[in-house]
Amino acid sequence: MFLRELYESVRQRLDAVARVVSAGDDRAVTAVARSEVPHLIDAVRTLMAGHEPNEIGECPACSRTLRRWTKPWRRPTSPCTVYLAARRALFDETDEPRHALH
Ligand SMILES: [Zn+2]
Repeated sequence: MFLRELYESVRQRLDAVARVVSAGDDRAVTAVARSEVPHLIDAVRTLMAGHEPNEIGECPACSRTLRRWTKPWRRPTSPCTVYLAARRALFDETDEPRHALH
């Protein structure tokens, strides 16, 4: 029960902020931005803290560090999924090609 409440409370908070930002008037959006954006930044930074790259740019959480002994010279081949998701969200990037015809 605790886990369900945890997940639901996070989703509800994000939904509430998104609702105000998308449908609220300028005053409400400004108030929410001032009160909630710092919390959102803290949340993203906290998530990223567990994915800080090492000296060769490899995320210890996302990479196969357990197999590092087999190929110690190996460079990371894929980016950290958390940093990649943050980059896509912050820069409004998607996997869709931007040159697609409309
Ligand atoms: Zn990672």
